[in-house]
Parts: sequence; structure tokens; C-alpha cells
Amino acid sequence: VLFRRARFRLAAHELRQLPDDTGAEVAFAGRSNAGKSSALNRICDQVGLARTSKTPGRTQQLVVFDLDGDRRLIDLPGYGYAKVPTSLRDHWRELIDAYLGGRQSLRGVVLIMDSRHPLKDFDRLMLQYCRDIGLPCHVLMTKVDKLSRGDAASTLLATRKEMGLLCPGATIQAFSSLDKIGIDEARRAIYAWLAD
Ligand code: GDP
Repeated sequence: VLFRRARFRLAAHELRQLPDDTGAEVAFAGRSNAGKSSALNRICDQVGLARTSKTPGRTQQLVVFDLDGDRRLIDLPGYGYAKVPTSLRDHWRELIDAYLGGRQSLRGVVLIMDSRHPLKDFDRLMLQYCRDIGLPCHVLMTKVDKLSRGDAASTLLATRKEMGLLCPGATIQAFSSLDKIGIDEARRAIYAWLAD
């Protein structure tokens, strides 16, 4: 019910444009095209909430969605295309570094990984950030509809094992926005962070 209330509030190019750092928020991260917008839309049960847009300009924005009271979801910029210039990556790093490291109200990060390409550099970097600053991380291994049951299960196990070394304590689950797999499990994980 909480997630259905999600409403777009603003898109921030810089941290100072974010809402006051009070209450609780959960951030969504993922490489471009991993399926982050689709996951956000599915979790919030709203088709057009997060735009599945691929324009370079958007890659540097933090998009804020209000839930209720002082609780928010934050859509972090992703990258992942080979063509992203180094300057953009540096800016991304600075922005993400400052946000993850400095945001008091941040309770955890939901990391979206494409189950066909898990643990790319971007994902490793995010997991290491979380480990370094002691931030909880929950991974949605999405698009599992594209794998056979057996492949999905073995990928989940292998990724969980490797992830445990990069960021002990991080959790992972199978997910599909298309086939609606793991939606309630993801909502429970996020809700647990927002509730306390
Ligand atoms: P984003 O760039 O991470 O926000 O990714 P999008 O949500 O825009 O999704 C990227 C592409 O993957 C789109 O073509 C989606 O239709 C597709 N996609 C996203 N989630 C799923 C899923 O669970 N299953 C399948 N088969 N395709 C998906």
C-alpha cells in the first residue's frame, strides 16, 4: 500500500537540490538497461512512474519519489554504456560518493542486476561502496524470466556467493518485472528499512 502512494517529486542534478535530509529513504541503483525503471514501476504498481528513458542528460540526475510523510524512494543515475565519457563517470562517482556517504536519511540501497550479466564493474563498485560505508544492500536479480529455472537458481547461488565476498551482509533475490516474480519479497525488504 505504501509503495502505491509513490509520487514524482523532483529530479536533482546536485545534492543541494534534494529534499531535507530527514526521515527515511531507500535508493535504487543499477547499470543502464539493467531494468531499474521497470522494477521501480512494478514495485510501486504504477506503469509510468519511473521513465525508462536512456538520454545521457538523465544519467546524472537523482530522481526523488515521495511515499508518505517523510519517506522517499530515490532513483540513482546509472551508467553502463561503453560510450560514456570519462568526465561523466567522474561526475557520477563524485555525486554518488557524496550522496551515499553523506545522506543521513538513507537506509539502504536496492541494486538492480540483469540476471544474464550479473556483477559487472558498476555492480562491484556499488557493493564496495555499501561495504565501505556500512550501508545495507539488497540485490534484485531481474529479468529471471529470460533464464530457465535451473539457470536462474544456479546464477542466484553463484552471484550470492561472490557478492558475499564483496559486501558481506548484502542480500539477493530473483526478480522479474515482466512475469511479476519476487515483487512482494522486494517490497518487504524495502519496507523493513523504511519502517525503523
Ligand atoms: P533501466 O535503464 O535500468 O531503467 O531499464 P528499463 O527498466 O528501462 O529496462 C531496460 C529494458 O529491459 C527494457 O527493454 C525493458 O522492457 C526490459 N526489461 C526490464 N525488466 C525486465 C524483466 O523483468 N524481464 C524482461 N524480459 N525484460 C525486462
